[in-house]
Amino acid sequence: MSQAVSSIVITGASAGIGEQTAMLFAERGWHVVLGARRKEKLEALSKVLSQKGASQVTVESLDVTDDKSVDRFTARTWEACHGRVDALFNNAGLALGIDHVAKGVISDWQAMLDTNVTGLLRVTKAFLPKMIESHRGHIINMGSIASHVVYEGGSVYCATKHAVRAITKTLRLELNGTPIRVSLIDPGMVETDFSLVRFKDDSERAKNVYKGVTPLTARDIAECVWFTAARPPHVNIEEIVVMPVDQAAPHKINRR
Ligand code: NAP
Repeated sequence: MSQAVSSIVITGASAGIGEQTAMLFAERGWHVVLGARRKEKLEALSKVLSQKGASQVTVESLDVTDDKSVDRFTARTWEACHGRVDALFNNAGLALGIDHVAKGVISDWQAMLDTNVTGLLRVTKAFLPKMIESHRGHIINMGSIASHVVYEGGSVYCATKHAVRAITKTLRLELNGTPIRVSLIDPGMVETDFSLVRFKDDSERAKNVYKGVTPLTARDIAECVWFTAARPPHVNIEEIVVMPVDQAAPHKINRR
């Protein structure tokens, strides 16, 4: 008898944590569905994932801030997965700038709120009804240490990640009585393009964030996502907070 293939949908799969999560689930033979705005990156990644052992790779451009894009992505996913989505990793997100509120850039605030909060909700709302109907699914949200604590210059980014935590906890209540699991992954410093995006392509400034420190890798976080998704169906990992040994708080970093 052939066994049904498990599938994971990953938003923000074109780089960093999303890309490495796709890699790890591919190695374990899952069907991986990749979404991000840079479709050419997803297409290049798709070839590698097939070689790594993915049972299937589905690629579709996705802008989580855009209704039509999310609708197209969702429809394509359900079709490619034949109605079976085991996990949705809501990973797409970004920080822009590190300005104090008095000097904040409103367009940056709006982009962070639209992507990290409304975007995550938009994608979740698009997938949930069929997950509920099919009695199957796991929403894994990408939080941050910024879901728990704040730092100067991080008002809006931290607010978005506090919101993600609140949404995750609310979903846990709303979905009680269904088999759908809801989890949150909260990393500290992970070396990805995150700082390059935050500092708007200032590579020197971005590099300095990780100077003299051993940060987490995107693969470390992918392992957390895997652990969360691979528990037996009656186990819900509520939240994983994971920090580099060198980082005790956003501002408390041991640099050598
Ligand atoms: P990254 O390398 O910059 O990756 C961010 C991903 O998000 C990219 O694939 C990007 O793809 C996607 N994305 C951004 N805006 C999007 C949109 N509107 N629609 C669809 N996809 C979008 O950074 P990362 O570190 O892997 O970040 C991933 C998540 O981890 C974020 O939610 C971030 O807040 C969180 N996080 C990161 C750290 C860290 O230290 N790195 C720590 C805690 C939490 P496109 O540009 O191709 O759309």
